[in-house]
Amino acid sequence: MRLISTRSPKHRVTFTQAVQVGTAPDGGLYVPEPLPCFRDVGALLDMDFQSRSTEILWRMLGDEFSREDLADVVRDAFDFPFPLVPLQQQVFALELFHGPTLAFKDVGARFLAGMLGKVTEREPGLRTVLTATSGDTGAAAAHALWLVPGIRAVVLYPKGRISELQERLFATLGDNVKTFAVEGSFDDCQALVKGCFADAALTEKLRLTSANSINIARILAQTLYYFEASARLKALGMRDAPVFCVPCGNFGNLYAGLLARQMGLPVRAFIAATNANRVVPDHLETGTYAPRPAISTLSNAMDVGDPSNWERIRHLFRDNLGDLRQVLRWGSLDDAGTKRAMWELHAAGILPDPHTAVAYGVVQSKLGLAEICVVLATAHPAKFAEILRQNMNLEVPLPEALVAVQDKLILSETIPADLDRLKKRLLNAPGDL
Ligand SMILES: *Cc1c(COP(=O)(O)O)cnc(C)c1O
Repeated sequence: MRLISTRSPKHRVTFTQAVQVGTAPDGGLYVPEPLPCFRDVGALLDMDFQSRSTEILWRMLGDEFSREDLADVVRDAFDFPFPLVPLQQQVFALELFHGPTLAFKDVGARFLAGMLGKVTEREPGLRTVLTATSGDTGAAAAHALWLVPGIRAVVLYPKGRISELQERLFATLGDNVKTFAVEGSFDDCQALVKGCFADAALTEKLRLTSANSINIARILAQTLYYFEASARLKALGMRDAPVFCVPCGNFGNLYAGLLARQMGLPVRAFIAATNANRVVPDHLETGTYAPRPAISTLSNAMDVGDPSNWERIRHLFRDNLGDLRQVLRWGSLDDAGTKRAMWELHAAGILPDPHTAVAYGVVQSKLGLAEICVVLATAHPAKFAEILRQNMNLEVPLPEALVAVQDKLILSETIPADLDRLKKRLLNAPGDL
């Protein structure tokens, strides 16, 4: 696969190169160019998830990886199901949260880890994956990279500002996973990560890469479940192309869906659902893109004020908002609307997670008669048990993954939000942190 930077086509790299660096040297994001186009989608949809996913990835990455290698990664990374659950007549939820850290970020992170593992087998040498997290991303990346040979995972998170349950999911792993509780906010953590990547010498010395959704491996993996949703609908006898409703934060998930459509998957429309962080809906309405600081909401994994993958979506549509509006509908819910949607899901017999609820709430006013819709369900409600308890007086039974970590010791080291000290810390102990 060849990829170019969103900011300049002259920065051209292979997937193997892109997966190891994160952003392009000009500050842009890597996007596949050209994209493969499938003329046999019907046959692809008749295959099972593992065979189809291997086939699709092989068509994308076959010039760099063997089919066997890709089949290995698919088998190991996607060892959990993606059930399609009916919510109401013609509206389904595709549950993406049955992986080890109970959010859809497991999908991208586990594929990224698998591919980095393959790259490391070929070109040995210690690599460091540095990630800032407000919860879900760090947990997924740490879990996926845990015990992968040749990889050291470093996760930064704001001390005391993520739920204890979330912290226990990834700060208790140890071995090649090092977690830093930063005395500061999530933005401080992100600034530290950006500061490390801006240091070319450090980046090269540590072979630094990112597990955030700027990493194209995560996006490619996420195209696969859009095909899966359509395959399940087809198996149910539903022939019309579905509408996909995506709860958006950094817009990586939506970008993956748009890529799947570009590769030939029939999609009637996408709905971008956001919480009160309305930068993209306002952009689509007014034409002006005005990033602003994120507001805290109930769906905190979507609290993003300047979504990084929007640059990729603009690039895909050659910056033509008119074309984009042909394919994309949008809507947003504030916390009051989110709570209403959570009660509606509860009434439908579903324990709601606030992120999925935003999408479910937005769908109600955006669907045409007789349209079939798939809502992407991005997190397990138990991950947000606290929110359900406080706002709805509902108790969520803890799934096994969370019970298992409840009494484990948190291994994080507390550090100040100080870039120079972090850099020294990373450099001075390259093997064992
Ligand atoms: C990250 C996340 C989102 C937002 O996904 P993007 O790809 O960043 O738009 C939505 N829901 C949950 C639970 C998440 O963790």
